[in-house]
Amino acid sequence: MYMSPWMSDELAALEELTADFIAKEALPRHAQWVLDKRIGRDFWEAAGEIGLLGCSVPTEFGGGGATVLHDFVVLAAMTRAGLTASSLQVHSVIMPHYLVRYGSPEQKKRWLPDLCAGRAIGAIAMTEPDVGTDLQALRTRAVRDGDDYVISGSKTFITNGTTADLVIVAATTDPSKKAHGITLFAVETANSPGFRVGRALHKIGQHESDTAELFFDGVRVPAANRLGADGQGWGMLMGQLPLERLIVGVNSVAAMETAVDLATEYANERRAFGRPLIDKQHVRFELAECATLAHVARTFLDSCIVRLLDGTLDSTVAPMAKWWLSEVECQVVDRCLQVFGGYGYMQEYPIARLYVNARVQKIYGGTNEIMKEVIGRGLVQSS
Ligand SMILES: Cc1cc2nc3c(=O)[nH]c(=O)nc-3n(C[C@H](O)[C@H](O)[C@H](O)COP(=O)(O)OP(=O)(O)OC[C@H]3O[C@@H](n4cnc5c(N)ncnc54)[C@H](O)[C@@H]3O)c2cc1C
Repeated sequence: MYMSPWMSDELAALEELTADFIAKEALPRHAQWVLDKRIGRDFWEAAGEIGLLGCSVPTEFGGGGATVLHDFVVLAAMTRAGLTASSLQVHSVIMPHYLVRYGSPEQKKRWLPDLCAGRAIGAIAMTEPDVGTDLQALRTRAVRDGDDYVISGSKTFITNGTTADLVIVAATTDPSKKAHGITLFAVETANSPGFRVGRALHKIGQHESDTAELFFDGVRVPAANRLGADGQGWGMLMGQLPLERLIVGVNSVAAMETAVDLATEYANERRAFGRPLIDKQHVRFELAECATLAHVARTFLDSCIVRLLDGTLDSTVAPMAKWWLSEVECQVVDRCLQVFGGYGYMQEYPIARLYVNARVQKIYGGTNEIMKEVIGRGLVQSS
């Protein structure tokens, strides 16, 4: 059996621990989370208590002091359970890494321990109602006023938006400079006059992940909450893209592998015309193709992970992984769902949740069209 080159006994044990934890602490609460459109706070605190949050955050700031591999294993376990890893990946990996990489020692000490313990929930707010892909054109303004900045504008589609205690907000401190005017601020949402959370958005999938609009109407943020200097935000956002894109890939591959496992089990159990479904050549061939795609995806992802770890995952390969793995995820999960017939369309079946959760993987983290644009630009030969 294929084993990822980066897998170790320690990571396998973490995978098992996470799967047990999800079975006890997440799956029994999932139906309620779907109704609430958000994960309960008790889950975050319980996850923090056993060290599942911020695995790669240094221990001096309350994290696990391990590698992103540990984070990937935790996220993949969530996907394998038929849940979305979206809220978790933003809270536990994507957002804290901005603080780890760009925060001052004071900022790290102030915020990371609570995030890693699940006492505070994190989000990152870039997208605006009128600006998504064309992020350089964002309109949220941050104007310096003494020791503060005053932030005004609105954000949308923000994961963990209704629950976040700390939001990293991308705003422009100088619109004339476009990308070079973008600055990141850590906004504490409690007791923050002018900050308002809009409705929890009603999505076609990822129902338990909280996605919301955020409004900033003259919100005062101390200058001490700025990450880096004015105008450095764009470089920070770009610097985190390879990791963020690979996280999409990690979940894509976990979803594909799970879909193939579920469909294979079902095809062996379900009978039609007096025989198990797997006896039909068409079903076997469908599963054979899906298993092959999932395996090719796994080996490609593994090569990208190895390159991420040794610092050679470049700005062409990360977009390749993001678009291709999410595209194949959608195909494989759809084909596996078909094996379930009508049961595949029932929400209590994990295959149905994998299906609705997959679609957005082609949209967030940079749309797949933009991934191809980035890859394609590198192929243009100057004449
Ligand atoms: C469930 C969910 C969670 C999200 N979480 C977050 C979050 O936590 N934080 C956050 O900041 N954002 C988040 N987003 C927003 C997400 O990153 C954006 O939706 C995404 O970047 C696309 O932006 P848009 O929706 O404005 O689409 P648009 O930019 O309006 O694009 C619309 C279409 O046009 C295409 N297009 C645009 N420009 C080009 C071009 N130059 N060439 C070719 N095609 C192009 C796009 O690929 C897309 O197909 C989330 C979105 C969803 C759905």
